Amino acid sequence: MPKSSKHTLQRWLTAPRLAGLPDLVSLPAPQLSFEFFPPSTEALERQLWHCIRRLEVLAPHFVSVTYGAGGSTHERTHAVVARIVSETSLTPAAHLTCVGASRGEVDDVARRYWDAGVRHIVALRGDPPPGTRYWPHPDGYHYAADLVAGLKAIADFEITVAAYPETHPEAASPAADLDNLKRKLDAGATRAITQYFFDTNLYLGFIDRALAAGIKAPIVPGIMPVTNFTQAAKFSAACGTQVPRFLSSLFEGTEDDVETRRLLGAIVAAEQVRLLQANGVDEFHFYTLNRADLTYAIAQVLGVRARPGVP
Ligand SMILES: Cc1cc2nc3c(=O)[nH]c(=O)nc-3n(C[C@H](O)[C@H](O)[C@H](O)COP(=O)(O)OP(=O)(O)OC[C@H]3O[C@@H](n4cnc5c(N)ncnc54)[C@H](O)[C@@H]3O)c2cc1C
Repeated sequence: MPKSSKHTLQRWLTAPRLAGLPDLVSLPAPQLSFEFFPPSTEALERQLWHCIRRLEVLAPHFVSVTYGAGGSTHERTHAVVARIVSETSLTPAAHLTCVGASRGEVDDVARRYWDAGVRHIVALRGDPPPGTRYWPHPDGYHYAADLVAGLKAIADFEITVAAYPETHPEAASPAADLDNLKRKLDAGATRAITQYFFDTNLYLGFIDRALAAGIKAPIVPGIMPVTNFTQAAKFSAACGTQVPRFLSSLFEGTEDDVETRRLLGAIVAAEQVRLLQANGVDEFHFYTLNRADLTYAIAQVLGVRARPGVP
């Protein structure tokens, strides 16, 4: 910038003009899915059902319910999924993992889901309980790809699997991890949902690599609206998600200011989904953490509106 323009309007005219983000009215509303976790107390149960009811009017493609580390929430996951089937207009997907169970036990859980009317499974290897290393059960499914094949042999489930734009922390290499994703899709999964990420370019680079590797199934971005930055940073270190500098600097000084953190979390996630939408993405999965407000607002930003007639 020439020195002389420092105090003039001219200093804003030195960079090329950027086109705006796409006009929402000209885009079809994207397809959404929402993820919940099974509650462990009555208070959390009330919070979960408030969240489910609030988001139900957005008529998501499906909602999914996680399975606790080491398979610890098996019964609670089943109870939430069964209640979604019987009491709501939503289509549930049950998360199911391989960890700590024999094939027979996992197959029984899957059959129970099928009998309860559940047709969609999010098939995962799962994480062992905190502080322990993953070790396949001697009679169990070793990896998610084995589980996908096992589920397909039981019934014609719709199957979604996990994908890692920043590479799964235990993978031998990014290429080996992409091969693993391909194996899961070849075994019968029809969609992947990504680990959450903050650097949108990493996701866009990943889908380029996936396409080049011959993957055609949608790799839906997993969006996590962050309100508790300290906790998110800790969790990100464990699951291999990079926390860009802009994000730590954005939340600096808000440790005791919940309201500002919530607003910042909404702004960051809204910017991220709009950027993804501008790059052609038309399906989004939200890690709701059983709270509806941010997810609802971001859905609104994406052009999704409450459907009249949905309870
Ligand atoms: C959308 C989403 C939902 C999730 N939900 C849950 C949940 O409900 N409950 C839960 O406990 N966890 C959940 N997780 C976390 C997940 O269980 C962990 O990330 C887990 O560490 C890996 O699961 P996976 O299904 O990706 O495993 P896999 O696809 O089996 O891969 C695990 C690792 O093994 C490697 N690998 C695969 N096959 C082989 C092979 N044959 N030889 C050598 N290495 C191999 C892979 O490259 C990767 O590093 C979720 C993750 C995502 C992204």
